[in-house]
Amino acid sequence: MATILVSDPLSERGLEILRSGGHEVAYRPGVKGDDLRAAIAPAEALIVRSGTRVTAELLAAAPALRLVGRAGVGVDNIDVAAAEARGVRVLTAAEGSTVTVAEHTFALLLALVRRIPWAHASTTAGKWERSAFQGQELAGKTLGLVGVGRIGQAVARRAAAFEMRVIGYDPRRDFEGAEWLPMDEVLAQADVLSVHVPLMEDTRGLLGRAAFAAMRTGVYVINTARGGLIDEQALLEALESGQVAGAALDVFEHEPPAGSPLLAHPRVISTPHIGASTREAQEKVSTIIAEKVVSALAKG
Ligand code: NAD
Repeated sequence: MATILVSDPLSERGLEILRSGGHEVAYRPGVKGDDLRAAIAPAEALIVRSGTRVTAELLAAAPALRLVGRAGVGVDNIDVAAAEARGVRVLTAAEGSTVTVAEHTFALLLALVRRIPWAHASTTAGKWERSAFQGQELAGKTLGLVGVGRIGQAVARRAAAFEMRVIGYDPRRDFEGAEWLPMDEVLAQADVLSVHVPLMEDTRGLLGRAAFAAMRTGVYVINTARGGLIDEQALLEALESGQVAGAALDVFEHEPPAGSPLLAHPRVISTPHIGASTREAQEKVSTIIAEKVVSALAKG
């Protein structure tokens, strides 16, 4: 039996899984500062979302800690190097939000090609501009995926139902639902380009000036992965020159992207990093991380 501190909100089902594993659960969502340092002292496992910052200093206050479970995807709030140096394993529940992020990608794609945010703004402003919002069909168009992992493949399945041709580049070639092509061919052939790659040293600025120049004129670009994958200045220039017809961004280099000229651009749709925000995904990441933590503790 282990003591597990849960310092951010977790679903009732997730808590049940931890308790039925025979563990003592300290459920303290939102606990901060000295209270957090006191609460973590006896804990062998810690479960967080994005609210708790797991710093080297916090880890130093947790001598018994063996595991940190992140109920979600990114580990931006966890000092993974400091955890590993202490022998503390970091687990995530990335697979819980795959469908939700793929659906948001599709929502943005349809909104972009049918110009829905702008048509909505016009109509609610009292206008009736039927000829101003001519869009494009997706059927017959080519969707280019950069990164064809869990989310990329879920997007590919949805694109197939919309009768799109789906091509993709991923250094791992063992994916389904998209035709593998080299990166430059994906850039050159895509009518819509969607990026689904993790942000790492070698993927920062993956879509920069050279990549935009290699794309079709009039391409649509979507990023529901991570800010930083797209060079925002290069995107702005490509929008200005007409190389990129429109872009939809759920993620930004700096969040919130206060003052970014992309926010005010008339052909950019922005959402505030809500790709994983559905009731279902939140529930799934809670249960997945609880199961992973219980299983890892059982294995010692
Ligand atoms: P995944 O690990 O299943 O897939 C990522 C794929 O990218 C892998 O197949 C990998 O081989 C590939 N890849 C790595 N470097 C590449 C490169 N240079 N070019 C092309 N492909 C490359 O991850 P996933 O679950 O599909 O998540 C994808 C992205 O979505 C991640 O960045 C994740 O952080 C992001 N995400 C965003 C939200 C959100 O709220 N908007 C939510 C969940 C995930």
